This record gives sequence, C-alpha cells and structure tokens, in this order.
Amino acid sequence: MKYDYMIVGAGLFGAVFAHEAKKKGKNCLVVEKRGHIAGNIYTEEIHGIQVHRYGAHIFHTSDKRIWEYVNQFAEFNQYINSPIARYRDELYNLPFNMNTFSKMWGIVTPEEAQKIIADQIADLHITEPRNLEEQALSLVGRDVYEKLIKGYTEKQWGRDCRDLPAFIIKRLPLRFTYDNNYFNDRYQGIPIGGYTRIVEKLLEGAEVRLNTDYLANRAELDGLADKVIYTGMIDQFYDYCLGVLEYRSVRFETQELEQENYQGNAVVNYTEREVPYTRIIEHKHFEFGKQPTTIISREYSSEWKKGDEPYYPVNNEKNDSLYGEYRAKAKSESRVIFGGRLGSYRYYDMDKVIASALELCEREL
Ligand code: FAD
Ligand code: UDP
Repeated sequence: MKYDYMIVGAGLFGAVFAHEAKKKGKNCLVVEKRGHIAGNIYTEEIHGIQVHRYGAHIFHTSDKRIWEYVNQFAEFNQYINSPIARYRDELYNLPFNMNTFSKMWGIVTPEEAQKIIADQIADLHITEPRNLEEQALSLVGRDVYEKLIKGYTEKQWGRDCRDLPAFIIKRLPLRFTYDNNYFNDRYQGIPIGGYTRIVEKLLEGAEVRLNTDYLANRAELDGLADKVIYTGMIDQFYDYCLGVLEYRSVRFETQELEQENYQGNAVVNYTEREVPYTRIIEHKHFEFGKQPTTIISREYSSEWKKGDEPYYPVNNEKNDSLYGEYRAKAKSESRVIFGGRLGSYRYYDMDKVIASALELCEREL
C-alpha cells in the first residue's frame, strides 16, 4: 500500500489526525470533496476581513490541554462572544442574564428577576421538563420564552418547541449576574489570520486531494491505503441502507456593504418568527476590524435533503436509535474508523472534535 492512512475529509478532525500521524512517521493521503480544506471552519479573507463561510465560529474551551494544543497553530485574540437578540425593535443581551431581565421588566436585582420568573410559571407545575418549551419556561419564564426563544428555536429547528428535546436549550448559560459572555468556558477567542491557516499547518506534510469524493471513487481509492479515517456522513457511507439520518441545513446569504459598521456587533439574532432568517453575522467584529467596508451573512435554516450541506444533527429518539444501528455496523469494520461530527452524528464544538481526534490518535498510532 502506498499510504498508511487515507483520511476522508480535510476538516478539523481529519487534519488533527493527519498531523499526529505524520509526527509518528505515518504516511497520509487526505481526500476532500470540496474545493478547499478546513471543512466547516473554513475562513476566507475578503478585503482584509476573515469571512466565516460556513457560519460563525468562536473557539471556546475549558480544557487547558486543548487550548494549548490549538495555540501551537495560531495566536488567538481577546474576542468574547456577546450576541444581541432583536425582537421587533427591542434589543436584549444574550445569554439570558441580568441585563436581559432588567431590560425586559425594568428591574434591578436578581431577587426581583427570580420572583417574576417564579410567578410566570407558578401555575404550570413543571417538575421534570419533558421538552424544550417546558425546559425554557421553567428556566426563564413566559416573557423571555415568547420573545427570545420560541420564534428563534422554531425557525432554527423547523419544529414546534414541544417536539424538541430539552437539552438543546441547556447549552446556553443562564445567569443572575450582569454578564453577557455567551460561554462559561475558561478560554475563548478567534484565531488571528483565520481558521484556514490552522488547518493548513495541521496538514503540512500530508498529501491532499481536493474535489475528490471518496464515495464516488471508492474502488480506486481503497487500493491506496491500509486504513481509512472517515469523517463524512455515516449513513451515506452505507448508502443509507438502514434509513436516512435527519439534519438541519443552513443557507448563508453573504453581502458586501459600502459602510464601515452595519450592526455594531458580530452576532445579532432575530428572534421573531416573522423574520425569515435566524441571525446576521458581521464578520469584521470578530476581529475588531476597522476596514472601510463590511461583510454580513444572513442565516436561513432549512430541513436537510440529499445534496445539501448537513449542519446540525437532529438528535431526537428516532435518529439516535437509527444512528445506533449504523454505529453497530461501523464497529465491525476492520479497515475503517469513523470520526468527526458527521461520522459520529453529534453536534461537536471544535474543542470536542480536537479532543476526540487526539483520543483516536492515542488508541490508533
Ligand atoms: P467538518 O468540518 O464537517 O469536515 C468534514 C469534511 O469531510 C468536510 O470538509 C466534507 O466536505 C468532507 N467530506 C464529507 N464526505 C466526504 C466524502 N465522501 N469524500 C470526501 N470528503 C468528504 N464549534 C465551535 O467550537 N464554536 C462555534 O462557534 C461553532 N459554530 C458552529 C456554527 C455552525 C453553523 C456549525 C454547523 C458548526 C459550528 N461549530 C462550532 C462546530 C464546528 O463546525 C465543528 O466542530 C467542526 O467543523 C467539525 O469538524 P469535522 O472535521 O468533524 O467536520
Ligand atoms: N436560542 C434561542 N434564542 C436565541 C439563541 C438561542 O432560543 O436567541 C436557543 C435555540 O433553541 C438554539 C439553542 O438555544 O438552538 C442553542 O443556541 P446556540 O447559540 O448554541 O445555537 P448554535 O450557535 O449552535 O446555532
């Protein structure tokens, strides 16, 4: 065999594996069906602005080892994510914190906020939230739910909040302090110079073939390497033989504007149902950019169908059980190892993807 490993997908997972394999003297071929490396963390420089082509990416982690790992490949700036929620003409701070509650109710103290929330849900008697609606109501009360959660979530997921799992909303911090940091993690920032450069560095020394779909060229490619690290969709690998896993897809409508500052913040969420997009990203604000022009992306969420880019796995009972069946098949493969967010049908943040790639390296290399 010409290569020790064939890595399918030049995203973060594949690139970390390629880097560690190279350090151990292994020879890797990376095949990527897109025309560029870096998968969904791909950033492209336009007029000096790093544009996040597949959605805003903020690096955040509490794992010191992962923070140190990624800092080998880039210097990070001091960006702290603090999105704004816009409901009609009202603006609120996110995540849900004392700034949000104070604006919503004209109150000042945590005690006042907690009392309003308790009063708003007293008659609901929610003890064990069974779905996203009950979870959200029990955390923040009816006003915040109606204005900042219901419309946004139903646009994002294309499903009623009563048909969505509670855990989706538990990802967000809820604080009774005046703190707009969207994450609780110890380390946070945006890589200066963009994410693509990190992946370029990780892939140094590996051979990369772009515009090459592994599944369409399997017969030829399988003869080239002893083992395959596959980071594409697990159900597609098996030609959907057990059924199709559901995803949400996103369409990004990107626009260049002849003005310096469009919305004054990197992320503005549009939480009312009537606005068709979920949020607008203004890319330069991730880097405190001062360019004379600006670039914005509106995000439209839709149900994934074959041929679209898959973004968010829909981890409900039905899909998780189908994934379990594919997983069992995958475990019996002797030459193929599945990884990354599509290979594991999991919403993985970047730090978790790096951690899971490094775990695989420890086992495999
Ligand atoms: P991917 O980046 O998807 O890479 C897989 C690669 O495999 C792709 O390039 C694909 O083209 C290629 N591929 C698939 N099938 C084939 C095939 N048959 N042949 C050849 N190539 C193939 N994480 C954070 O930490 N912070 C954030 O702020 C954040 N924001 C996000 C926002 C959005 C909208 C989304 C969707 C994700 C976000 N993430 C964020 C998660 C982050 O994008 C992932 O953790 C990371 O990209 C996963 O890397 P990966 O290598 O597993 O997958
Ligand atoms: N959410 C919401 N309103 C907001 C932001 C988030 O209701 O303004 C909910 C929504 O259900 C979303 C979840 O919180 O799916 C998680 O938000 P997050 O920002 O983590 O979503 P992502 O960045 O992954 O799209």
